[in-house]
Amino acid sequence: MKVTVASGKGGTGKTTVSASLISVWPGPAVAVDLDVEEPNLHLFLHPEISGQRNAFMEIPKADESLCSRCGQCSDLCQFKAISLMGEVLMLFPEMCHGCGGCISICPEGALSADVRLLGDVSWGHSEKGDFIMGRLRIGEAMSPPLMRAVKARLEDRITASPADVIIDAPPGVSCPAVNAVMDSDMILLVTEPTPFGVYDMKLAHQAFAPMKKPMGVVVNRAGMGNSEIYDYCKAENLEILAEIPYDRRIAEDYANGCIIADTSEPMRQLFTGLAEKIRQKAGREVSR
Ligand code: SF4
Ligand code: SF4
Repeated sequence: MKVTVASGKGGTGKTTVSASLISVWPGPAVAVDLDVEEPNLHLFLHPEISGQRNAFMEIPKADESLCSRCGQCSDLCQFKAISLMGEVLMLFPEMCHGCGGCISICPEGALSADVRLLGDVSWGHSEKGDFIMGRLRIGEAMSPPLMRAVKARLEDRITASPADVIIDAPPGVSCPAVNAVMDSDMILLVTEPTPFGVYDMKLAHQAFAPMKKPMGVVVNRAGMGNSEIYDYCKAENLEILAEIPYDRRIAEDYANGCIIADTSEPMRQLFTGLAEKIRQKAGREVSR
């Protein structure tokens, strides 16, 4: 079972929920940090890293002596990553999505494959279980290809030894967030009862609902704000699976890098109950 912990915006407590779920999960589970732009799950799990490899993306390079200036590559590229300006062929590697279309279409064989470093994938083991993360290179904007490299490592891991998977997804509803949730069995939306929390959770729900996956909600900092999040969940038949109370001690524990489920018996029970509800819900219900 793959469970993805997502949120419409950053700062809702997505990573603390991910770390706590890993801590209480009954049975083997792999923790995966797919928030490759800003990975921080390792700060809670403290894995011992045993392997790392760079991840690359294929981009075109040009041999201008072969180029006839036909313009076909420039016309094809939807991202303006290769452009014929008059007689000048220009490449913008940071805008390339690595589709390879320009290389395939070039009638003169003037384009060939080069690579761009995206970041790295690392893996290891913590006392909570196996761990995999991706980290985007500083200045790199293209996270989905690196996320695919992390997922490939994950597939190798769970093929070798079956385990459930808890994924900490990037916040938001853009391509990286969709990429993170698309092959999960269950989506857990973490939100907070504030106007921003409600607004962004609605966006996340609307973005992910067409995938027809079971979805549930964790309300963090419950007790602050108003009832709008509860009204929305009720209207949309979104089950609230857990509420983490608005409590200064929890915030302090989080700031100190603690796994909330490990800080007290009530917190452990809260996350144990959440894990059980997730396991019951995944596979038997499709969200609206
Ligand atoms: S590989 Fe695709 S995205 Fe990159 S420059 Fe060529 S056509 Fe554009
Ligand atoms: S398709 Fe090939 S030959 Fe045509 S402009 Fe592009 S690089 Fe040059």
